[in-house]
Amino acid sequence: MVVLSVLEERYESLSPSEFFYRNREIAGFSNPTRALYQTVRELVENSLDATELHKIPPDIKIIISIKEPPDLVSILVEDNGIGIPHEEVPFVFGRVFYGSKYVLRQSRGVFGLGIKMAVLYAQITTGKPIWIRTSTMNSKIIAEYRIKMDISRNMPIVISANFRKKRSKWHGTIVKLITKGNWTLARRRIEDYIRRTAMITPYADIYFKGPDVELIFKRNTRKMPTPPKVGKPHPYGIDLEMLRRLIEIHNRNITLRDFIMKCFEGVGEGIAHNFLEWARLNGDKKLKDLSTSEIENLLNKMKSYRGWRRPRALSLSPLGEDLLRKGIERILSPEYVVTVTRKTSSYSGNPFIVEVGLAWGGKIPMVRSPILYRFANKIPLLYDEGVDVARQVVDKIDWSLYRVKFPAPLAVIVHLCSTKVPFKGVGKEAIADVVEVEKEIENAIKEAARSLRKYLTLIERKRALIAKRITISKYIPEVARALAEVTGTSETKIAKKLSLILDRIMRTESKKRGDIDHE
Ligand code: ADP
Ligand code: MG
Repeated sequence: MVVLSVLEERYESLSPSEFFYRNREIAGFSNPTRALYQTVRELVENSLDATELHKIPPDIKIIISIKEPPDLVSILVEDNGIGIPHEEVPFVFGRVFYGSKYVLRQSRGVFGLGIKMAVLYAQITTGKPIWIRTSTMNSKIIAEYRIKMDISRNMPIVISANFRKKRSKWHGTIVKLITKGNWTLARRRIEDYIRRTAMITPYADIYFKGPDVELIFKRNTRKMPTPPKVGKPHPYGIDLEMLRRLIEIHNRNITLRDFIMKCFEGVGEGIAHNFLEWARLNGDKKLKDLSTSEIENLLNKMKSYRGWRRPRALSLSPLGEDLLRKGIERILSPEYVVTVTRKTSSYSGNPFIVEVGLAWGGKIPMVRSPILYRFANKIPLLYDEGVDVARQVVDKIDWSLYRVKFPAPLAVIVHLCSTKVPFKGVGKEAIADVVEVEKEIENAIKEAARSLRKYLTLIERKRALIAKRITISKYIPEVARALAEVTGTSETKIAKKLSLILDRIMRTESKKRGDIDHE
């Protein structure tokens, strides 16, 4: 008798695109509102990476229109970046985990995932392909593609490909998608995102047109931050898998000494020598002769050695104090701004830099606690502010020490640059409370707040002086009248003179106290 089992399991593997298709909320594509916002983000961030990383002042155009009411939305983003080599186009848009940013360098994109999620979402909600026009700087052609994804195979499907001769010097990329999205609900977020992006990129021209809105941000500087260089891992920042991979990809004939000098950040001959001696390791041993337990031992020694140099900032690209100020001025139009860029610091071997701006008055509304603008690697963070370490620090600070009495017109801008931003959870919208990062944010805010206090003190003094002058000048007519009677000179003349004398006294007084002249 044959017994048929109904309990038999079927085993198979899942392609990366299939995985993200099933779990799209992980990448921010949970519903039509979030998806629309996320699509704009992915496109804009790719455009900014394609310009900024190569020191091209970005010209970014974003056009959103309702294709078919109520929820078929067309999104077009154009940049003047380096373009994409035409043979790479199908893969960068149609294959999950394919990209050019898998190196140790600060960039907005990291995983080679973003744009594929937008393509995937568009495809499953509208069935339409993505349209791309691109040309690299030295290319003689302009390529145009329409691409879909084969989700189960994680491979692109090229619907059409056209190449034509380039008659201009144009380089860059235009991407157009038709996706399901809720413009009415996403509008505020998208506008906010673009405004904040403009704040962190004062050297970018950004044009945005939506169904019922137009925003134009002209650059207010042509200066750009130094692009990040590709860095090497720091001995503190690696784990066993990474170490194995590094050993694997290097010539296994080289010695241990050469390996640590070549593959790690800040390891010269002297440091390599000291480390090997301290760790009691034979530097002449060839990589290929290292056993598994020797590799594990190497990792442990690397992690506990205290003589490594601190990670350097070459792979980071902060804005710097001047540019951050420019960015804040262009969006917030405050009365006073102070910016602070801290020195490089590190957590678990990952270098990071904190930048902070405090903006006061002007168009900033009166608020009960500081308005916070958060950025990580020049990406605005809009969601989950409540759990972000920056919010916790801002709320912990005793602002009255800095002469700020709420309600007050105060905004705090916090920018964290790192080759590995410690995000809280998969949403990548909030920074986790890593002690080193928290301390740096706090120190940066306090440093900036000391300058703000100076400014507010000056303003207060000036106000007090003006009040005093008003009080004293009330007596001028009376004194002038009395003096006129005694001297016989005209009362108006005396009053004028007294007023001038009073002004002079006030000015000297103000100078004596070291006040700046605000007239
Ligand atoms: P990531 O940005 O994390 O690398 P994406 O899926 O968003 O991943 O993009 C994949 C790759 O496509 C990028 O690494 C980049 O090489 C290329 N790319 C995407 N958009 C552009 C663009 N506008 N200009 C130049 N290259 C781009
Ligand atoms: Mg990207």
